[in-house]
Parts: sequence; structure tokens; C-alpha cells
Amino acid sequence: MAVQLGSRLRDTRGRMLRDMRISVTDRCNFRCVYCMPKEIFGRDYDFMPHAMLLSFEEIVRVAQAGAAHGVHKLRLTGGEPLLRKDIEKLVAMLAELRTTEGEPLDIALTTNGSALAHKAQELRDAGLKRVTISLDSLDEATFRAMNDIDFPLARVLDGIRVADEVGFDAIKVNTVVKRGANEDDVLAIAEHFRGTGVTVRFIEFMDVGTTNGWNLDQVVPSAEIIHRISAVHPLEQVPPAYPGETASRWRYADGAGEIGAISSVTEPFCGNCTRARISADGKLFTCLFASKGHDLRALLRAGCTDAELEDALGGIWGARDDRYSELRSADTPTERIEMSYIGG
Ligand code: SAM
Ligand code: SF4
Ligand code: SF4
Repeated sequence: MAVQLGSRLRDTRGRMLRDMRISVTDRCNFRCVYCMPKEIFGRDYDFMPHAMLLSFEEIVRVAQAGAAHGVHKLRLTGGEPLLRKDIEKLVAMLAELRTTEGEPLDIALTTNGSALAHKAQELRDAGLKRVTISLDSLDEATFRAMNDIDFPLARVLDGIRVADEVGFDAIKVNTVVKRGANEDDVLAIAEHFRGTGVTVRFIEFMDVGTTNGWNLDQVVPSAEIIHRISAVHPLEQVPPAYPGETASRWRYADGAGEIGAISSVTEPFCGNCTRARISADGKLFTCLFASKGHDLRALLRAGCTDAELEDALGGIWGARDDRYSELRSADTPTERIEMSYIGG
């Protein structure tokens, strides 16, 4: 019953539940300055003990409940998802799930690319369709400064090369642009991937969490990025591929492919936000900027049935009212979850 009701599930603003981002760990080997600043995420930072993490079986049950309510896309994230042992086994388990129309779910993963070269083949074999690699600069010094662990650029580029050889359906690159850090690298990144079939998406630096020292002066508006690239390689806007697409799409006029811009700060897209986020310890967040999640792990570990889990998910989504980015203002909650916890 819950399946039929669920397939029409909408929140209080009429938004459906279409995507689920699942964080599989809160740990990461990088310390990107905009996400896990070293001063906070240092040696004595309390990461979650393994027992707190959802098991693969628990993750599959949550994803299945999502699928029963209309979820079509799953994205594995973190922390760094490739640090979770046997992640490819989870991918294989999720690949068995079906949408309400009986189709396999679209499974994607976002990674910093550091372990991609040796993981790409097994991930693909397990059923991973799409991979997104975060890459903030092609300048060695800037790249190392932004990951803040001196990680060499070549290893991430190698990961992207192997992913390409393995033959994923789509490879994307995410570049967070921070004023004063990497805004001058935007053109080089666009040029590097022009004509390769890899789509780069430039992301405005967001005020997620409370540790990254965000302020509006550090945000480079997408319009500026598009202008910089278009001045050299003319771009034309492309209509969204589907309603709710978070990136605005731009095509090179000479046919060399596309880039995207995610303008979470300057052009919020809450009206189309169809995304639920599950933290590594099994809390459901209905907004990236929520301060509190709904504890699905407690339900799972109390022995709930699949129908009860679906009902709980339906109830939470049905009551959802979030639109933080549209309101971003004096109302900003002071307690906010970190990106490394919820996975972007
Ligand atoms: N570790 C993986 C990675 O970096 O791809 C997955 C998790 S990471 C939290 C997911 C995405 O969030 C990355 O593309 C990262 O660049 C982005 N991100 C992290 N902090 C951000 C911020 N403050 N503003 C915008 N994007 C951010
Ligand atoms: Fe790690 Fe990704 Fe955050 Fe960078 S953005 S610190 S790679 S979780
Ligand atoms: Fe969705 Fe919240 Fe981001 Fe708005 S602020 S787009 S509701 S996650």
C-alpha cells in the first residue's frame, strides 16, 4: 500500500522525492579548506565509530524505502566514499533495487578521486553508472593547498583517466570556486576538459556547516565564471535535462561539449529540490542546511518492517517545508550540519 501512496508523495511545497544522497562515511583523507578545515578536523576530531554507521543492509533498506516513494537516483558520497571498505559490494546491492516503474535506479558516486584509479573497474563492474570527481585546480600548488594534505594532482587526473577507460555512462568534474583561492583556474579547467566528453560543473562556495569560515565575499557568482569562459570560448545556455536539475547547462558554441554552473548562493533552486540526504549514521535530512535529522537508524535497529520504514519516510517528506537558500538571511540557523557529514 505504502508503495502506491508513496509514488505520489509530495512535500508541503509540492516537491517530489526523486533523489537520495547517501553518505557512507564521515571520514576523508583530504582536508579541503572549504569543507574540512584542518584546525577543526584535526587529529583529535571525533569521527564516528564503525558501529554508528549504517551497515550495507541498512543502507539498502533505506534506499528501497526511497525507491518505493519515487526515488530514481542514488548518489553515494561522504566524507570520502571510497574510504568505506568494500564500497563496490554496496553498489552491487543497490543495483538490484528497482524504481516504482520497475527500472534499475541510477547509481552515481562523488569522490575526491584519490583512490579512483584502482577502484574504478570494480565499481563499474558492480553497476555504478556515473562518477563525479571533485577537482578544484590544475595548478599543482593550488590543488595541494586546497586539499590541504599536499595530495598530488597527477593521482586525481590518473583516476579520471582510468574512469574514462573503464567506460562509465557519464563522468563529471565538480569544481568549487572560492574567491582568492582558485578563481583564476576556472578557464584552465574548462579548457582541459573541453572536447573530452567530461562535463565540468562549477559550484559556488556555500555556507554549509559552521567551520569553513564562509562569507559572501568568497563566493564567485556563477555568472562571473560563465562570463570568463565564454569570453574565450563562447557559450550558449541549454535548457535543463529534467525538472529539478541543480546545474544550469551551457554548451560551447563550437560543439566542444558542455559545462554546468551550480549557483546555490546567487540563484537558489529550492523550488525544484527533490533531494533527501542520509548521513552515515542513518539520519535523514530534508535540507543541506537543516540542523536536525530524522533518526532512521533507530527505527531500523528497533526492528521496523519495510512498510513501517516507508511510512516513516513518507511522513517526514510529506511534512517537509525547507527552502533555506531562498531565505538565506538573518534567519540562518547557527547550528548546521557539516558537508563532510552529509555529503553535499
Ligand atoms: N569527498 C567527496 C568529494 O569531495 O567529491 C564527496 C563528498 S564532498 C562533501 C561532495 C561535494 O561537496 C564535493 O564536490 C565538494 O567539492 C563539495 N563541497 C564541499 N564543501 C563545499 C562548500 N562549502 N561549498 C560548495 N561545495 C562544497
Ligand atoms: Fe573530503 Fe570531499 Fe570534503 Fe574535500 S570536499 S574534505 S574531499 S569530503
Ligand atoms: Fe534544497 Fe535546502 Fe538546498 Fe534549498 S537550501 S535547494 S531546500 S537542500
